[in-house]
Amino acid sequence: MQIFGILRTAATALIAASGIGTAVPKKLNVVATTPDLGAIAREIGGDLVLVTALAKPTEDPHFVDAKPSHLVTLNRADVLIEGGAELELGWLPPLLDNARNDKIAAGAPGHIVASQGIAMIEVPTTFDRSKGDVHSLGNPHFLMDPMNVKIVAKNMADHLAQVSPASAETFKANLKSFNDRIDQKFVEWKKRLVAYRDAKLVTYHKDFDYLAARFDLEIVETLEPKPGIAPSPAHLAKVVSAMKAKNARVILVQPYQNRKTAETVARQTGATVLDVPQQPGAVQNTSTYFDLMDHIVTTLAAGLEAKP
Ligand SMILES: [Zn+2]
Repeated sequence: MQIFGILRTAATALIAASGIGTAVPKKLNVVATTPDLGAIAREIGGDLVLVTALAKPTEDPHFVDAKPSHLVTLNRADVLIEGGAELELGWLPPLLDNARNDKIAAGAPGHIVASQGIAMIEVPTTFDRSKGDVHSLGNPHFLMDPMNVKIVAKNMADHLAQVSPASAETFKANLKSFNDRIDQKFVEWKKRLVAYRDAKLVTYHKDFDYLAARFDLEIVETLEPKPGIAPSPAHLAKVVSAMKAKNARVILVQPYQNRKTAETVARQTGATVLDVPQQPGAVQNTSTYFDLMDHIVTTLAAGLEAKP
């Protein structure tokens, strides 16, 4: 008799775990190309989604190492979120073709393009991909502006509601509380950086331009002569002169950029190299967008404070 009892308990536990016989809806499998998009999706989807990011927090979003496991992940996805504006042009299209999943095909409700509705900056009038430039449709690093994040979050909530209409109200409520928090934190971030208004910065890649515009900072040069093109000695000499002329005292780098190059320029100009990762999880305790921005704002303020 006891064995039947155990079996019955096990069966009940299985049914509970699988959701059979209950009204618990199946969680949506949401796949984001990059961890920043994944972090925002977690806020909007809440308990109703399982989020996976394809790129590692320490990988360059333009040049992600495509793996067979990515195909499996994409094949099982209910929703795909990409940055768009050709951010993932170098690696996502072949993965998407081979994943054979109509739910996330271009134009399907389950395919979210984050750049939709964003006022893109630095849209080139002429463009030559053969030179290696990767910002063909403008600057795709728009999540560094918290106001753009609100647009992306709304886009996500709308698409998630189309994919899962029964959960539409929850996504809407999650969106509201996320946006309220962004507004509240934005005041705090702005206050923290106001003392450094018009401070001169140098970045490795053109990846902080939206942040600089929103927080009134000035990027005087990038170590790359063009986005995606490696620094050359001639270009770096130009950067050094510009930094000296304009008194730029910090150089911002990310984990996948060549820190040694930044250090060389820093030595010649008396500047400091600041590690300012843009992806949640690249450094400890930055798993949410809020934690990440707290980290970025604190690092920037500390770096600029040390260099009046
Ligand atoms: Zn870029």
